[in-house]
Amino acid sequence: MADEQTFIAIKPDGVQRGLISPIISRFEQKGYKLVGIKLTQPTKPLLEDHYADLTAKPFFPGLLNYMLSGPVCAMVWEGKDVVKTGRVLLGATNPLAAGPGTIRGDFAIDVGRNVCHGSDSVESAKKEIGLWFKKDELVSYTPTIFKWIYE
Ligand code: GDP
Ligand code: MG
Repeated sequence: MADEQTFIAIKPDGVQRGLISPIISRFEQKGYKLVGIKLTQPTKPLLEDHYADLTAKPFFPGLLNYMLSGPVCAMVWEGKDVVKTGRVLLGATNPLAAGPGTIRGDFAIDVGRNVCHGSDSVESAKKEIGLWFKKDELVSYTPTIFKWIYE
């Protein structure tokens, strides 16, 4: 259970706005473990695969342009219930509906500039991690502080 993984990305607006470090801090402070990270310029085919379930949406072309507009900080975070709790840390998709204290609630206004992505299920996390990362780009280690985080 503590080895559950999720794919978290800081979108081009988050990178441009200097939000990499505050977003990473939210996950670090919670106690989650970073096992993969890279700054990468995603390609259209990668994004079409990543957002395959949204191709029919009217906002899909705009979403692709948004995600293609600059580098993305792609990450894999690991820990107990990290998929669901990662989404809680991000906040609602529409930042105006996201609560204070969440990343989108604190740092964004428009749904089309909502600064971050997080996998919505363990299954999509597996798919997304496989799309964005090669196996040898992920590391395995046990932080010495884990006995202070997990009972
Ligand atoms: P998420 O899982 O919370 O990121 O939300 P979805 O999977 O439903 O949508 C993926 C991304 O598409 C969102 O994070 C937004 O950036 C964008 N998006 C979703 N709904 C809308 C919308 O109604 N309008 C626009 N412009 N973008 C949207
Ligand atoms: Mg989604």
